[in-house]
Amino acid sequence: MTQDDDVVRVGPDPHPLTHDPFLSPVPPGTGWPTDPADASTPVAHTADDVAALAADAHTLADLDARVSVCRACPRLVEWRETVARQDRRASFADEPYWGRPGPSFGDPDADTLIVGLAPAANGTNRTGRMFTGDASGDFLYAALHRTGYASQPTSVGAGDGLELDGIRIAAAVRCAPPANVPTPAERATCATWLGRDLELLGDRLRVIMTLGEIGWRGVLAATTTLGWVVPRPRPRFGHAAEATLHTPTGHPVRLVGCYHVSPHNTYTKRLTPAMLDDVLTSLRH
Ligand code: SF4
Repeated sequence: MTQDDDVVRVGPDPHPLTHDPFLSPVPPGTGWPTDPADASTPVAHTADDVAALAADAHTLADLDARVSVCRACPRLVEWRETVARQDRRASFADEPYWGRPGPSFGDPDADTLIVGLAPAANGTNRTGRMFTGDASGDFLYAALHRTGYASQPTSVGAGDGLELDGIRIAAAVRCAPPANVPTPAERATCATWLGRDLELLGDRLRVIMTLGEIGWRGVLAATTTLGWVVPRPRPRFGHAAEATLHTPTGHPVRLVGCYHVSPHNTYTKRLTPAMLDDVLTSLRH
């Protein structure tokens, strides 16, 4: 479970904020702003490796580092790195691409976790930060700022100074999938990282908000594996749907659903800024 020497990289190109040169995909520990990993971070190559390395991560920082170098899903590794090397969106052609899994982002002392679906090929896969660099993220971070969770209304990329207060953002799958559709096996493998995130947040975790149904199902799968008590029948996803889960120690955690912030939902007004603000505000109750 060591770093790979055989990752094919291109570049360097200048980081859009710091202007420092980076190869794509970005080698761990080479100075990318907020890169949680370094050259000694152990790398998962299989689902069993993910299980072992997640169980052995004792802090959120340690977990974030291990997530950010994971290579357990060959199809997703191939896709994220091909996009980073040669299939960039034309408007970002001269930027370095992160090309690695998106680690969770936000307040390490958060009592609220937001769980999305998966990174976008030219969003998180480019910037290295959850929901950053695409229209979905623009919609989400503006709402987080309006509702008092984010220090600024935009999230441009790692290194822009954005801080979250009380919120941590994760995803059911941490690598950008082709056509935004991870396979059931990829979802199952990555759920182990999410489960460890939930364990390390511990009893300070009060609320989980999922963006979309896949995030909702990912949380139910991860918490069931962890031995949490999930209501029966299993709660169904919906916008502003709510359920209460209990950890094995009996600690209650609210599960709240929200339509995904994808352009498909926001451009059609299925999800409006007011609807998202209402759900985010309800998380404080
Ligand atoms: S999707 Fe998750 S488990 Fe699969 S390679 Fe990416 S980080 Fe690892």
